Formats: sequence, structure tokens, C-alpha cells
Amino acid sequence: MFDKRLDKKKFKEEVESNLKLLYRHTIAEASQQELFQAVSYAVKEVIMDDWISTQKAVKEQGAKTVVYLSMEFLIGRALGNNLINMNSYRQVEDCLAEMGIDLNALENQEPDPALGNGGLGRLAACFLESLTTLGYPAYGCGIRYRYGMFKQKIENGYQREVPDDWLKDGYPFELRRPDFTQEVRFGGTIHFEKDANGDDCFIQENYQSVKAVPYEIPIVGYGNHMVNSLCIWDAEPIVNFNLDSFDSGNYHKAVEQENIAKNIVEVLYPNDNHIAGKELRLKQQYFFISASLQSALQKFKKTGASIFTLPDKVVFQMNDTHPTVAVAELMRLLLDQEHLSWEEAWGITTKCVAYTNHTIMSEALEKWPIDLFERLLPRVYQIVQEIDRRFVAEVRSRYPGNEEKVARMAILYDKQVRMAHLAIVASFSVNGVAALHTEILKNQELKDFYEMMPDKFNNKTNGVTQRRFLMHANPWLSDWITLELKTTEWATNLDLLAGLKALVDNPAAQSDFIEIKKQNKIRLAQYIKEHNGIEVDPESLFDIQVKRLHEYKRQLLNILHVIYLYNQIKENPEQEVQKRTFIFGAKASAGYIRAKEIIKLITSVAEVVNNDASIDGKIKVVFIEDYKVSNAEIIFSAADLSEQISTASKEASGTGNMKFMMNGGVTIGTMDGANVEIVEAVGAENAFIFGLSSEEVIQYENHGGYNPQDIYNSDPKLRQVIDQLVDGTFAGGDREMFRNIYDSLLTNKSGRADQYFILKDFDSYRQAQAAAVAAYKDKSAWARMAMMNTACSGKFSSDRTIEEYVRDIWHSQKIQVEGK
Ligand SMILES: *Cc1c(COP(=O)(O)O)cnc(C)c1O
Repeated sequence: MFDKRLDKKKFKEEVESNLKLLYRHTIAEASQQELFQAVSYAVKEVIMDDWISTQKAVKEQGAKTVVYLSMEFLIGRALGNNLINMNSYRQVEDCLAEMGIDLNALENQEPDPALGNGGLGRLAACFLESLTTLGYPAYGCGIRYRYGMFKQKIENGYQREVPDDWLKDGYPFELRRPDFTQEVRFGGTIHFEKDANGDDCFIQENYQSVKAVPYEIPIVGYGNHMVNSLCIWDAEPIVNFNLDSFDSGNYHKAVEQENIAKNIVEVLYPNDNHIAGKELRLKQQYFFISASLQSALQKFKKTGASIFTLPDKVVFQMNDTHPTVAVAELMRLLLDQEHLSWEEAWGITTKCVAYTNHTIMSEALEKWPIDLFERLLPRVYQIVQEIDRRFVAEVRSRYPGNEEKVARMAILYDKQVRMAHLAIVASFSVNGVAALHTEILKNQELKDFYEMMPDKFNNKTNGVTQRRFLMHANPWLSDWITLELKTTEWATNLDLLAGLKALVDNPAAQSDFIEIKKQNKIRLAQYIKEHNGIEVDPESLFDIQVKRLHEYKRQLLNILHVIYLYNQIKENPEQEVQKRTFIFGAKASAGYIRAKEIIKLITSVAEVVNNDASIDGKIKVVFIEDYKVSNAEIIFSAADLSEQISTASKEASGTGNMKFMMNGGVTIGTMDGANVEIVEAVGAENAFIFGLSSEEVIQYENHGGYNPQDIYNSDPKLRQVIDQLVDGTFAGGDREMFRNIYDSLLTNKSGRADQYFILKDFDSYRQAQAAAVAAYKDKSAWARMAMMNTACSGKFSSDRTIEEYVRDIWHSQKIQVEGK
């Protein structure tokens, strides 16, 4: 690694030689993309040595490996973060500057590998980075989607999805590993035989199969020479074109195989907290799980250890229920390939798998129709049936005569496979992702399971990596923190930020902090000018809500409040008001019509407000197109207010809230998810909390909801806002454009009226907003509040989360890697 010993001359030569090798170009001739590739390969060259050393150390030290199974890894760009973690960012920046190359511009050439939807995928990426920085052997297993999350274009105010061809120029950080190829089988029939040894054999016939080929991406630890891997599987046809025996039958078969393989890894389903329920999705799940488990078992068997020691050497953490087919697939491999008895196989499996629950929302709880599941995975289904049979027998013996309980808890029920139940029954650990969320799981959603197996349940509050979301995303604040704390140790011990509390009343420190925030706001304002063509004033209050578009996240509450403010300003033109910029960023799932209508409403309000000369720019509304990790990094650092306004009980944790907090954004939010713990850490006086509590929401829900008409009738200013949805104000006179949104708030045509308690929480939100604006007037008091948020954010490092997983679930050990 470079560290202090960056050999500039060698690095420059490497870049030049890569340009020549890859493109037959000199630096003067190369495009920015070519330079990005050449520099990335030069960086990868250095990473390789540590990657090799890490592999060697893992083997030699025989430590237990964490295998993180996830359908999504939202890793973000690699070049800048790899350099940060190699402690070489500034040196390489200087070195490239001497060559006339701008590192920042090169970073913008990198595609954002969007192999995830939102929080769940980003969590997986933060976890791999923290595991590596802390020195634990680990790797992620996922899918190398040919097209990542779609790119969002806003056209005429509407979202349009454009394919994200992230591999088109080649991705320099991946490594194809054809020697670890696996075969994955789908469909066909199963028959039973005794083999020559008298062992039971289940033979699968007439199946389709594909080749799973792994690609590895290095995950670089911070300053410790450790490099773990993210292993993502590509699908290839098993039959290759054989040009000699080219009869038409073979040709068609070959083309068919090619298509089956291509389809599996073609796209990531763009659903967040919602099931797609598509056959291809189940195929994707089994594809990467079967490949990952076969490969993990092969690796383990190479060590020569007894299969019964597998739980001492690996743990499979299932990120939500998406990888739950792993339970049955591991059983299959142990039964059919290792010829263990059911009891032996179950004993091993249940010591190897652990499950993280990410949501209580019913529309996100994965269930597969049994007929589909059985047709696609016939042997796996037999195993699930047997797991279910034994589990149901256990429930009956524990709760005799309680058939309602059996019905509630069974894995197979109502012609469906309930994946969460399979995951809970087989896992030795079931964790929620924030304290409140875990309590709701134990006391409501998973109450029956908690009563029967209380020891499995535990909480692991999410976190985020400060290397990406502070050091890389906010270099000015990072430098200032290091200067004030007189150490860079906070890079691996975020609790040290508490040392900043001593400075919150110091006027010089306050003005530094304000100045840094201003610089970040200018940076974001430039991005907005470039991408939206809108001028925003960096002196205005930046109020930001960026996250997936979902009704429960309540972007609608936010934009209705903006309309309310707009009305007030128009009615009282003389009144002095705080200048504010409301910034949104959100992708909607392609099939989620209501979410798309809300995007159209936000962009339509923006259009009217931003172009109304009569309000003199007092408020501006910006919708940032294509919210993703790379632009998120410049958004978090620029926020004054962080909008975390989900309907209480619906947001399991949230991690965007933590990224804002670290960067000195003050939360306006409900007591939901990790907001509860953020408020606990920073103090209620340093946040703006409003709205129903989760208990109140659950109470209402258990009684069929509430009547929003009462609020509509008694709050004239809110009624005006709601009526403007259907009087054409924001729709160029069209009264129908937002009719569905209007109806969803007031009537119960489809489900409950105002399911997400927007009217119910509106007044409370309006008051919290007013309190925030009043507080912002006092620059010094606001700076104190913002600084307190940064100073108290130590708990929300994913390093803390990972140490808790290790302590309570994984029980793995750190290894030492000798750097070159
Ligand atoms: C952190 C992050 C999320 C999760 O945001 P929430 O506010 O917790 O929903 C989603 N997308 C991206 C790109 C992120 O960086």
C-alpha cells in the first residue's frame, strides 16, 4: 500500500502503461473515461497485493468467516473510497494533478454500481466495509445484475426509467473467477433411489441448468491492509455453441439456454419494501444462493475439516428473507451430497444461519405460491415440507389444541410458502434493525415466535460507515474534526466525536462549522444549477428529504406543507419569512403508480413556486433527478434540516437519518425507527420531533383507522391545501391530475382513508417546521445544535453495529494482515 511511501514515479508510469495497454493512447490523447480506467487499474494493482495477503491470512489463521447473503449491495463508487481507505487519497490527487489530471473529475466518470434499491442494499455495503476495517474475514454474496437500478429521468415532471448499463465501459474493480464456476438447476422431477452404498439418493431429471460464474470486487479496509471480497454471480449458458455439431435442434437448444441464463441476471427488481412476486425473482434468489452455498461448502471441504465443524468456520447472515431459500439449500447439500441424516443436517444448518428482519409492512413480507415454488425447486420444496411438518408438530405439542396458533405460525399455509417463518424457524438468531423495530417485532408482528423462542430475538441498530459518509463525502468537515480533535482516530472510533461537545459553545468553532456547512451548500447549489438549471441561495435554509419514494415515508406530507407555506407567503406578502430551499430526491418503483403521482406533484409544485415572481424567491423547491449513492454524498453534507417523517412504526430503522446527523443536519422527524435513538443520543432539544407515536398509530390501525374528514373540516388552511390538489392550481388548470392523491387522503375507496396519517400529523408537523425556522434565526444556537448532532453521532457508525453482530451472533475473530 502507498501510505507515506507513495512512489509517484511508479504510479505515473503505471497509469501511462495502462493507457497504452487498454487504449493505445497517451495521456494527451486519452478521454476522461480512459483516464479513469487507467488510474483505477493502477489502484487495483496496489490493492491486489493486500487482497492476496488477506486470502493467505484467512487460510492460515483459520478464523470464522462471515458470509453476508444479500440480493442487494449498493456499493457506490469505488475509486475515491478505496484511496481514502488506503490512506492515499491526497497523495494520488497531488500526483494526478502533476500529470494535469483532476481526480475529482475522474471520480465522476465512474458508474455507480446500483446493485440495490435503497437502505437495505446500502446497509450491506456499509457492513462489508466495516467488517473489513475491523479486521474480520467476511465476504458478501449477491448477483451481478447486468442492468442495475434504472436511471431516473424527469420528463415533463414525470419519472421515466432508463436502463442503467453500468458495465458498458467495463468495470475496472471486478475480477472474473471462472475457476469457481457452479451449476444451478431449476425444475424437472425428483425420484428416489438407493445408491451402491445403500444411501438415499434424490435424482433430479429433466431440469434446466445454468452456469454461475463469480466476479469478485475488493472491499478495502481502512488503513489495515485488509481486503475482503464482494462476490457477485453472473449466469452463463451451460451448453456452448458447438460449431461442429450444428444441427438446428442443437442450435435452438443453445439459444434457449443462452436466454435462460441471460434472463436470470438481467435486472434488479426496482421494488423497495414491496414484493415483486415474479417467478424470475425466485429464480434469482435460488440462483445466487445455490451457487454461494455450493461454493462455500467446497471451500470448507478443501480444509479437510469434518463437516460437523462447519458452524465453527462459517456463518450465513441472511439480509431480509430474500436469501431464505438458503435454509433448504444448505439442508439439501448436507442431505443429498454429504449424506447426513436429517437430524445431523438440521443440527448444522440451524447453527449456521441467522436472519435480519427489515420490515413489518405486510406488503413486503415475502410469500411464494406453493405451486410455483414446487415447480421451480422440486427438491428444495420437499425439504421445506419436511421442515414445516416437524415444526408444526412442535407447535402442536407445545400448544395442544391451539390450531389458530398453528395456522398463524406454519411455514406452508394457504397455498403459500412464508419465507419469514422459514427463516425464523431455522435461524439461531433473528434480529431487528433498531430498538423500536425489534420491540414491535417481539410484541406484535412476530409475537407467536417470540413467545416460543425468545432467546433467538435480538436488536442490532443499523449504522453507516464514516469513511464514505463523512471522510469522502465531507472533506472540509473531516479536516476540521481532525484539527480540533488533534487525531484521525475518529476514522475508526467514531465515539471520539463526543470530544467536539466541548466546542459547541465556542464562537470561533461555531463560525467554522457554519462556514463548512456553507461551502457544502454552495457545492450542492452548483450541482443543482448544473442539473436542474435552478438557482438556489446557499444562505437559505436547506431542508432535505432524500430516500426512496414510498407512501409510508410521507414525501406527500412534506410537499403539502410546502404548499401551505406558499399560500401563507402569497397571502401575507409583506411578512418577513426565512428563505428556504426544499430539496427532494427519490426514485419510485416502476410499477408504483401512487409514488409516481407524488413525484409529479412535487415537480409540479416546484414549477409553480419557483416561477412565481410574487413570492420573490422566498421558497424554492428542487427535485434532484436520479438519487443514488454518488450524489447522496454531496447532498447529506449540505443539509440544515434532515426530513425523517415516516408514519411512526413503518420505518424499521432508516440510515439516511444517520448520514445527515454525522454531517451536522438537524432532524425533523417522527419517533420512528432509529430516529428514536438519534433523539436519545443528541437530546430532544437538538431535534424537532412531531406526530403520532408508534403505539398510537398501531392503536388506530387495530381499530380500522381514523376519520380524516374531521381534520379536513376543522383546519381551513389545511383544507385549502387539500382542495388545491383538485382545483388545478398546480396542474395548469387540470382538476384530475392529482385526484387520486386527493381521494386517498379523504375517502376509503381503496383501503383506509389516509392510511399514512398525513392529515392527522399535519398540524404537529407544521408546528415542528415553525419551531425549526425560529431556531434557525439564531445562527449561534443553530450552529450549536448542528454541532451537537455531529458530536453525538458516534453510535451510528456501522463499526459499532458490526461489533455487536460479532459479539452476539457471529462470534468471529479478527485476523492480522501483513501489509507489503
Ligand atoms: C442511505 C441511503 C438510502 C437509505 O435512506 P433512508 O432515508 O434510510 O431510506 C437510500 N438510498 C441511498 C442512495 C442511500 O445512500
